[in-house]
Amino acid sequence: MNPSIIESEKQDWKNQLKHSIKNISDLIDFFGYDNIKNSPYEFILTKEYLDVFEKIQQGFRFKVTRYYLQLANINDPFCPILLQVLPHPNEIADPYFKDKDPLKEEIHSPISNLVHRYPDRVLWYISHHCAVYCRFCLRKRKVSNPASNTFRKNISDVIDYIKNQPTIKEVILSGGDPLSLEDDSIESILHQLKNIPHLYSIRIHTRMLVTLPHRITKNLCKIFDEYYPITVVTHFNHPKELTEIVYEKVRLLRKSGVLVLNQSVLLKNINDDVKILEELFLKLIQFGIKPYYLHHCDEVQGTSHFRVKLEKALDIIKELQGRNPGIAIPKFMVDLPEGGGKVPLTPVYLKEFDREKKEYIFYNYEFKNLYRIKDL
Ligand SMILES: *Cc1c(COP(=O)(O)O)cnc(C)c1O
Ligand code: SF4
Repeated sequence: MNPSIIESEKQDWKNQLKHSIKNISDLIDFFGYDNIKNSPYEFILTKEYLDVFEKIQQGFRFKVTRYYLQLANINDPFCPILLQVLPHPNEIADPYFKDKDPLKEEIHSPISNLVHRYPDRVLWYISHHCAVYCRFCLRKRKVSNPASNTFRKNISDVIDYIKNQPTIKEVILSGGDPLSLEDDSIESILHQLKNIPHLYSIRIHTRMLVTLPHRITKNLCKIFDEYYPITVVTHFNHPKELTEIVYEKVRLLRKSGVLVLNQSVLLKNINDDVKILEELFLKLIQFGIKPYYLHHCDEVQGTSHFRVKLEKALDIIKELQGRNPGIAIPKFMVDLPEGGGKVPLTPVYLKEFDREKKEYIFYNYEFKNLYRIKDL
């Protein structure tokens, strides 16, 4: 490939990172003081908020790309972009969730940077940086903290661990955002993984397609093509996030043989609404992305203000079934505390078993009429 194209695409995403919004004065410059003053986000300008903001920063940094912030609407009190990125006082005074690691990832970590909870797959943190820090992040305890990033120190230990466990069928590269690494590092990891004969699948969990689509360069796609088949799982939460550049980048990925899936998190006041989710999932398939999971928000310290009631979640799932095409409906997943693992939650369509007639009685998707099938 033409080296000047490789270089200019790299400059593009590096520049976005370099000029990202990192503090309140950047925010004021970005939106303009008067525009904030006359908006529902006026509180950003107060001394109280500045104090809280500084405190929150010490645990989990604030950072947004200009690209992502351009999707925001400062006049919308429930702007789905701003609500995902603006630090909230509840982050340091959560009345409900106190645990930084409710999924007990640390207990299931046989060596550092690796979580091995299920027998057949492992999750490998290869970066603790992201282009944007999402306030509901489940790995706040590590993510955004440069000191917790020790991945380079034990790459060969992790590779040896995977090599020595033939029950492992899949490696998930996660973080932080694995695509915050440079192409060469990503290629080297893919190369080492491809040489392990018992692996069936390599997956990359990234939010770059949402927050910094410029990161999906031709050179990166060429690498993915060389290591075919790669699965990329991205993280769109709202239809506003699906822009023209995203469409182009998904196309590039798919032309390189990449399977592109999406996981969303169900977030209060952001996407806990059947119309919004219907549009999100339809738009995802229109863009060439298969909705894979919709996650219930985990019980991570400082995130309870994002939590939606399970009953409401189930109602939304019920309404989507029969309303959207099947390929535009993800599984709704609950990750159980104490490291229980993920389980799908679905409305229960099986009403009962009629012992006399040996028939099962079902509701259909509308939950109005009953239907019988024989048990042979
Ligand atoms: C979510 C998760 C996975 C991946 O689960 P899938 O259901 O295969 O998508 C793997 N390991 C850990 C520790 C996880 O939390
Ligand atoms: S991109 Fe993922 S890992 Fe990074 S802050 Fe957002 S949710 Fe957390």
